Amino acid sequence: MSIIITGAAGFIGSNFILNYSNLVSEKIIGFDKLTYAGNLENLKTIKDSTNFKFIDGDIVDSELVANLLNKYQPRAIINFAAESHVDRSIIAPDVFMQTNIMGTYSLLEEARKYFISLNKNNKNNFRFLHVSTDEVYGTLAINEPPFREDRKYMPNNPYSASKAASDHLVRAWHYTYSLPVLTINCSNNYGPFQLSEKFIPLCITRALQIKPIPIYGDGKQIRDWLYVIDHCNGILTVLEKGIIGETYNIGGWNEKTNLEVAQKICELLDELKPRCDGNSYQELITFVKERPSHDRRYAIDASKIYNELGWKPKENFETGIRKTLDWHLDNESWSYIHSHDYQYLHNNDFS
Ligand code: NAD
Repeated sequence: MSIIITGAAGFIGSNFILNYSNLVSEKIIGFDKLTYAGNLENLKTIKDSTNFKFIDGDIVDSELVANLLNKYQPRAIINFAAESHVDRSIIAPDVFMQTNIMGTYSLLEEARKYFISLNKNNKNNFRFLHVSTDEVYGTLAINEPPFREDRKYMPNNPYSASKAASDHLVRAWHYTYSLPVLTINCSNNYGPFQLSEKFIPLCITRALQIKPIPIYGDGKQIRDWLYVIDHCNGILTVLEKGIIGETYNIGGWNEKTNLEVAQKICELLDELKPRCDGNSYQELITFVKERPSHDRRYAIDASKIYNELGWKPKENFETGIRKTLDWHLDNESWSYIHSHDYQYLHNNDFS
C-alpha cells in the first residue's frame, strides 16, 4: 500500500512529505503538475529514496489519476493540489476553476471508482483527505468569535469560492457515494519553501533585498498564523484519527494584523542580520492600494481537533517566525528565485 500526495512540490505538500517520510516508511507517491508554484528542489532530499516516487501530472486528467490509483493502490489520497494565491485569482480566475473545482471533481470521481474495487479491509482503511482553507468562511468582524466548523460558507474572492466549491464536492461524494472523506480548513500557514508572492516570505525577501515591503491598505487585516509543520501534523492526526465525513478546522491561536507581522519580521531581522547602513528594516514598510474585496479578519476556533483528536500546535508565532527567518537566511538563493512574482502581481491594478 502507499499514500498519494497531490500538490507534492508546493509549499505545504513538500513540507508534508519531508515531515511524513521522517516518521514512517510507507511508500509516498508525490503527484504535481509543477506549475509556477511547484518546485522539485523542495523534495531534493527525498527524491532518490526507494520509498518515494514523483509523478508529473495534472489532477484534472482523470485517465492519469485512474492509472495512478490502479497502479499504486493507495490507502489514502491527500489533496493539496490547488491554485492558491488570491491576487492571482483576481487577475486570472479561469485556472482556479479548472484545478480547484474540476481537479477535485476528477480526483473524487476516480477515487470513488477505485474505492468500489477494493476489498472490505482496504475499503475500511481508505481515506480521501481534502486540504482546504479558512477563507471559505469569508470575513469576520473584530468582535465575532473565530470560525467553527458549522460556520456558514461565505467566500468573497475567486480563490475562496473555488475552494468552497471543492469542499462541497467532497461532502457530496461522501453523502452520495459513501466515499470515506475528511476535510480540513486551515488558517494561514508560513514556514520553509513558501513562495515570496505570499505575505510572510514577501516581507522577508523584500527586506533582505532592501526594497519596499508592501502592505495593502491600512495593514490592519487580521490573520491567524500557523507554522506549516504544525499544520502537517494536524493533517496526520486527522488522517489517522478523524471521523469519516467530518470537517476539522486547524489554526494556531495566533491572530496578528499584517502590519504587526511585518514589524515583527523587521525587528527580528534587525537582530539576526543588521543592515550595513545602520537603519532598521522597519523603514522599508510601505502602504499600497487596498486589494478588492480584501477580507478583514480570519480566525479559527480549533477546539474540535484539540478536544476530539488531541492535536495542538507546538509553535507559537514567536518561535515559528524565528524558524522561518533562520530558514530564509540559510536559503537566500531559494528565496530570490521567485521574488519576481511581486512585480508580476503589482503591475496589475485590478481595474
Ligand atoms: P502552493 O501554491 O504552494 O502549491 C500548490 C501545488 O499544487 C504546486 O506544487 C502546484 O504545482 C500544484 N498544482 C497546481 N495545479 C495543479 C494541478 N492541476 N494538478 C496537479 N498539481 C497542481 O499551495 P500551498 O500553499 O502549498 O497550499 C496547498 C493547499 O493548502 C491548497 O489546497 C490551499 O488551498 C491549502 N491551504 C493553504 C494555506 C496557506 O496558507 N498556504 C492555508 C490553508 C489552506
